[in-house]
Amino acid sequence: MHIAIIGAGISGLMSALELAEQGCSVDIFDQQQAGQAASWAGGGILSPMYPWRYAPEVNQLAQYGKSLYQMWNEKLLPITGIDFQIHNTGMLIFDQEDFDVGLNYANQYQEAMQQCDLLDRKQLEQINPHISEKFQQAIHFPQLSNVRNPRLLQSLISYLKQHPFVRFFEHCPIDQLIVKNKMVHGIQTPNGQVFHADHVVLTSGAWSQYWEEHIHRKIPVHPIQGQMLLFKTPENWLPTMCMNRVMYLIPRQDGHIVCGSSMADCGFSTAVDEQTQQNILSACLDMVPELKQFPIVSRWAGLRPSSPQGIPYIGEMPDIANLWANFGHFRNGLCMGASSAQLLRQLILKQAPIVDPSAYSPSRLKKQNLVTQ
Ligand SMILES: Cc1cc2nc3c(=O)[nH]c(=O)nc-3n(C[C@H](O)[C@H](O)[C@H](O)COP(=O)(O)OP(=O)(O)OC[C@H]3O[C@@H](n4cnc5c(N)ncnc54)[C@H](O)[C@@H]3O)c2cc1C
Repeated sequence: MHIAIIGAGISGLMSALELAEQGCSVDIFDQQQAGQAASWAGGGILSPMYPWRYAPEVNQLAQYGKSLYQMWNEKLLPITGIDFQIHNTGMLIFDQEDFDVGLNYANQYQEAMQQCDLLDRKQLEQINPHISEKFQQAIHFPQLSNVRNPRLLQSLISYLKQHPFVRFFEHCPIDQLIVKNKMVHGIQTPNGQVFHADHVVLTSGAWSQYWEEHIHRKIPVHPIQGQMLLFKTPENWLPTMCMNRVMYLIPRQDGHIVCGSSMADCGFSTAVDEQTQQNILSACLDMVPELKQFPIVSRWAGLRPSSPQGIPYIGEMPDIANLWANFGHFRNGLCMGASSAQLLRQLILKQAPIVDPSAYSPSRLKKQNLVTQ
């Protein structure tokens, strides 16, 4: 079976991996270099932030993130030499209004990985000695981890480029789906080059709305910008991830600390601005004041593929038999990336699905000529 995948972020690369490992031949296209968009820019927390604020459909896919990435890291590392560092730091949350719901969440929803404890100041200092004195309590999620997402992408790209069934087409935008008799017969570049495949998968992240006119359905996915900044501290200086008021600190093994993030609806702009950077910085220093002694070594912005309730579209497109979706992961595309791709592969290859696929079905995309109220 021959598959064309449009978009080489985490959604496209993991989909390619899942399908190629099952013997499919895969062509993967990106308008820019592979793995440079949201999936590079994200933080790599392997859980939705405050999972109780998300739909069960999001948490359901996210819960497999850590174990699937651990499995793939073991498999890919000997071939690529790239360790994408699933860093088991645990997470501290300081938002008091979330303490009760956080403490009950794991048992209520049978999500063992979200087990947490309420810490007093003394316990907090033992777990993380750098927390501001203004926080006398926190809830601690010892099992939460982060993945070093730029390395995850590098590893996937390196592995797939060596894979005998995979071809990469970078700097190769696809702007046309050639649809006849409810089937995609080809995909086309702006200079008229046509590629053929048995199935076509759209993994175009924040750009996915572009396909609306091809499928005659509304695609409510658009870019929401998030900015980040990066500190460099000594190795293992900050022992845990920290979160307060939707701002977070994510320590990497080598002492880099990723800090974010903002939310702005500003089209496809990835420019950073001083005011937003200041807001992120002050939220981070509020949690860990000692950070101010360390240099900020980078700043950037990425475009999250927002979707209603953050529930991605995964599965066969309505009315076009061989066109598939795996997009719209909003704030959680890294933690949902591995299981979303697994689900997509299971649906294409008619295998038993990891979760009930109906909640993710693109059949919920509304017909374009319907008047919305
Ligand atoms: C600041 C920030 C922090 C985040 N933190 C986290 C986190 O901690 N945990 C988490 O789980 N998630 C996080 N996310 C969300 C996560 O990064 C995204 O949900 C995820 O990366 C989306 O992956 P994707 O592959 O769908 O999109 P992308 O990575 O954006 O990839 C889409 C690709 O499609 C290509 N493309 C689009 N249209 C075409 C076309 N017509 N032809 C060819 N190529 C095309 C683009 O060039 C791009 O490379 C964060 C995001 C941001 C911005």
